[in-house]
Amino acid sequence: MSCIFCRIAFGEIPARIVYQDEQVVAFHDVSPQAPVHVLVIPRLHVDSLAATQPEHDALLGHVLGTIRKVARDLGVADNGYRTVLNTGFDGGQSVGHLHAHLLAGRPLGWPPG
Ligand code: AMP
Repeated sequence: MSCIFCRIAFGEIPARIVYQDEQVVAFHDVSPQAPVHVLVIPRLHVDSLAATQPEHDALLGHVLGTIRKVARDLGVADNGYRTVLNTGFDGGQSVGHLHAHLLAGRPLGWPPG
């Protein structure tokens, strides 16, 4: 299995997991860009948001619901946070397994670079 996030989902390589269930895994980003930087991935391999189909919409909703839960659990919901899905080359996606970033713990600039 070559996909690094599939390998995390299968427990083949370590990650600092903060939440998991039968559909998703949430873990700290190895190169955090904010005091809190968590990634939420579906266990199902899908390359990106652009590769999803309407049949994945419930799973996408669960990814966002997991962001909401993790933000509450990590105590950043009240101050606010940013949720990012980098998609494709221009979107800055570097890992080809759909993932949502949860960034929090400092004021975040806008627009992104
Ligand atoms: P993106 O650029 O949106 O594709 O984001 C990929 C993210 O995955 C980056 O923020 C990386 O730091 C992160 N990342 C890559 N490998 C790992 C890993 N083994 N464990 C945790 N985060 C990772």
